[in-house]
Amino acid sequence: LDSDLTISMSTDSDRTPVRVDSLDSQVSDGDASDKAWPRQNSLSMREWDIPWDELKMGEPIGTGHFGTVYRGNWHGDVAIKVLKMDCLDDEKTLEAFKLEVAMFRKTRHENLVLFMGACMKPPRLAIVTSMCKGMTLYTHIHLYKDKFNVNNTTIVAQQISQGMGYLHARGIIHKDLKSKNIFLENGKVVITDFGLFSVTKLCIKHRKEGNISIPPGWLCYLAPEVIRSLNAHHKPEDEDLPFTQASDVYAFGTVWYELLCGEWPFNTLTSESIIWQVGRGMKQPLANLQASQDVKDILMLCWSFNAADRPDFAWLLKTLEKIPRKRLARSPSHPIHLSRSAES
Ligand code: ADP
Ligand code: MG
Repeated sequence: LDSDLTISMSTDSDRTPVRVDSLDSQVSDGDASDKAWPRQNSLSMREWDIPWDELKMGEPIGTGHFGTVYRGNWHGDVAIKVLKMDCLDDEKTLEAFKLEVAMFRKTRHENLVLFMGACMKPPRLAIVTSMCKGMTLYTHIHLYKDKFNVNNTTIVAQQISQGMGYLHARGIIHKDLKSKNIFLENGKVVITDFGLFSVTKLCIKHRKEGNISIPPGWLCYLAPEVIRSLNAHHKPEDEDLPFTQASDVYAFGTVWYELLCGEWPFNTLTSESIIWQVGRGMKQPLANLQASQDVKDILMLCWSFNAADRPDFAWLLKTLEKIPRKRLARSPSHPIHLSRSAES
């Protein structure tokens, strides 16, 4: 498991392909209304439209909220996320999917999974990304019980901040930042599943049916304002959960806590009491956490009840860089040493 950890300090490097953007502006007639979207983008979207027949589907890897991910091949190994059709049953949702694809194609950052294209012809809707080689933080932390030392925790948190800062600079809200959506590939963080609309839509669907089904370990990533809206009686047209950049920062706090502590926050509470207590401002106490006061203070800021009090990722990145690194006897050059506990 030992591998060298490299942190790259590159900032938001804008490498959006010029050709595609210039196509956008050629076809754009300046009308930014939603209705005009397909016409504006039809030309440049073709570059990202992968014909279903070109994909070689392999084994399913697993199923999440909004579809099944398959191993596949398309000019090399890829991950193919096939969306559940029942959450894409109307024109409006299909349009939203296409809009999101239009966003993905503009993401180019080493801490974000590489978006390769999408199948956009119903009933076959799929997102094709590069295949992540390592394991998710979820697998490391909760399944293998790997321990991240203080330095590695900070390095991983920095890389997440870097990827997330880039997404936010591009106006993309992740909405589903969690340890299951963060891979560690040879010490490099790779974030997946950013901006997938269906998470929101699916929750709404379940809520309409009167029983929200809450996946285990999901609630602890939801900021108080999002939790509160799960309870609220929304009007039918008021469909979206209130995810924001600040709610992504809250979720980041939870991932960082998992890294530091090896557990989810509130792991002894039922869903009902998490909803009730977080909605009223309760936070996971950090008294027993083995971490410096600096780290605890920053973590608590990320979990601020008021969204406006939470820092942004640019600030987090700067602040994490200033956290003193411990000199560890085993690892003079900062390689990642995860120690796996004996019982797992
Ligand atoms: P979740 O994120 O809740 O685990 P997903 O539908 O996103 O659900 O993923 C299903 C499975 O596919 C998970 O085991 C996930 O780790 C894996 N997976 C998703 N995207 C990729 C990828 N780009 N590379 C490798 N594995 C992936
Ligand atoms: Mg995922």
